[in-house]
Amino acid sequence: MTDPIADNLAVVRARIAAAATQAGRDPATVTLVAVSKTFDAQAVATAIAAGQRVFGENRVQEAAGKFPALRTLHGDLELHLIGPLQTNKARDAVALFDVIQSLDRDRLAQALATEMTRSGRRPRLYIQVNIGAEPQKAGVAVADLPALLAFCTTLGLAIEGLMCIPPADSPPEPYFAQLSALARTHGLEKLSMGMSGDYPAAIAAGATHVRVGSAIFGGRSAPGPAPAG
Ligand SMILES: *Cc1c(COP(=O)(O)O)cnc(C)c1O
Repeated sequence: MTDPIADNLAVVRARIAAAATQAGRDPATVTLVAVSKTFDAQAVATAIAAGQRVFGENRVQEAAGKFPALRTLHGDLELHLIGPLQTNKARDAVALFDVIQSLDRDRLAQALATEMTRSGRRPRLYIQVNIGAEPQKAGVAVADLPALLAFCTTLGLAIEGLMCIPPADSPPEPYFAQLSALARTHGLEKLSMGMSGDYPAAIAAGATHVRVGSAIFGGRSAPGPAPAG
C-alpha cells in the first residue's frame, strides 16, 4: 500500500506535465512548490521520500519548527516563504528560506536588504502583487509595482519574479494573464501562481512555480486568515 501523499504527488506531477505540454512548454520549466503549512514534519518527510524537494510555508515560526531537522537529513531541500512577512521577522526569514515570495513594500525590502548584508545570506526574492486589488490581501498594488522595483534596485536587491493569489470568487485566468504581462514588462523570469484549484490554468498562462498544498497533503481544518509572520 502506498501513502496517499505519494499518490497525490504523482497525480499533481502528471497534471503539471500535461498542462505544460498542452501549452507547448517543457514540463521541466514548471517547479512544484509543495505547500506543507499546517502539516507536520512526518508529512513533509513522506513527500521527501516520494522525491519532492521544494516546499512552501506561509509562517516563519511554523517553518522554523519543521525544516531545520529535515535539512540535516536532506541538504538539497529548497524552502519558499509564501505568506506575509513582518519586518521584525526578516532576520529569521533570511536565515531559513531560500526564496521569499512575499516581498510587498519598501520597509520590508529595507529590512531584508539590511539583514542580507549582515548575514551574508541572500535568499532569492519575488514581489507579491495584490492582483485583484483586494483590501484584505497582502501584496503591492499593481500601480505601485514599478516604484517598489526601483526601490529594490537602489538597495541592491535583485528581484527574480512575481507572485500572486487571485481573488477566490472569480475565474483566475485574467489575473494570471495580467501577472504574466507584468513580469514580461519588467523583465522578470519567475512567475509564482496557481494553487490546488487552478494550477493547470496558471501553467497555461506561464507559471514557473505552482504552489500546491491540499491536493498533495489533504484538506486543512478551517483556517482563519493566516496571521502575519
Ligand atoms: C496555502 C497556500 C497555497 C496552497 O493552497 P492549496 O489550495 O492548499 O493548494 C498556495 N499559496 C499560498 C500563498 C498559500 O497560503
